[in-house]
Amino acid sequence: DGESVIDVRLGTLGSRGVLLLAEDRTRAVRVEETRRDFVANVSHELKTPVGAITLLAETMQDAADDPEAVRRFAGRMQSESRRLAHLVQEIIELSRVQGGSALPDAEPVEIDDVVETAVAMNRNLALGARITLKTGGPTGLQVFGSSSMLVTAVSNLISNAIAYSPPETQVGIAVRRDGGMVELLVKDQGIGISKENLERVFERFYRVDRARSRTTGGSGLGLAIVKHIATDHGGEVSAWSMEGQGSTFTIRLPEMGRTDAITVGGSALR
Ligand code: ADP
Repeated sequence: DGESVIDVRLGTLGSRGVLLLAEDRTRAVRVEETRRDFVANVSHELKTPVGAITLLAETMQDAADDPEAVRRFAGRMQSESRRLAHLVQEIIELSRVQGGSALPDAEPVEIDDVVETAVAMNRNLALGARITLKTGGPTGLQVFGSSSMLVTAVSNLISNAIAYSPPETQVGIAVRRDGGMVELLVKDQGIGISKENLERVFERFYRVDRARSRTTGGSGLGLAIVKHIATDHGGEVSAWSMEGQGSTFTIRLPEMGRTDAITVGGSALR
């Protein structure tokens, strides 16, 4: 950890001497280690719901003549399957964004539209949790990137804010300009995150409270996805939190200046 990996090979050149070959493989080894960790984590995370579903199915078979028990087990199987489907979807999403390649569908994106769509996607979740979603007025700010990916990022932040907040609180979504950057803030009045955990929440599969997160259906991948989407757009994501008071997550993206867009026949080019 933190050390370099140098491959050293020694060859002989007959009677003319020896040849020493040194190759710095630090980066390649790191990448391979990260990949191996990821595969191990994915297998572990998938085994849990699959194991639960198998067990529930077996138990249900044994209880076939008790309709009430069958109904109960079926319900639990349904929620485990939903959890599994959500996890698979997030794994696919993460592998799509962590390639770090060019954005497939990059174009000028209105941030107000991104926020509106992300808020609409979380409307029912907020209603069920009795949380009010508040947004500011239109800003007209634009960034260059993938609208669908930015919606995913903002939606992940909003659904987290809802999941980790008590009922009758507010989640605020704000957009503002700071220098040449567009800032997207998602602020909640929830349980907050301790300092030690705050440093780690963007890691893949990291969850502060596994037991609690399990009941909320969390996978620990949401913030890793947000981080990749922000960096793929030349931006970054950061978090501020105070335990018991709430958290604010901020995505900063380079602003696409009005002068960057040349309007030709009604369509904006860059
Ligand atoms: P999950 O799917 O578990 O929500 P994330 O990657 O989205 O995974 O978040 C990682 C962890 O960070 C969560 O399990 C939770 O403990 C913590 N967390 C994320 N957002 C918030 C928030 N708004 N308030 C409090 N804790 C949060």
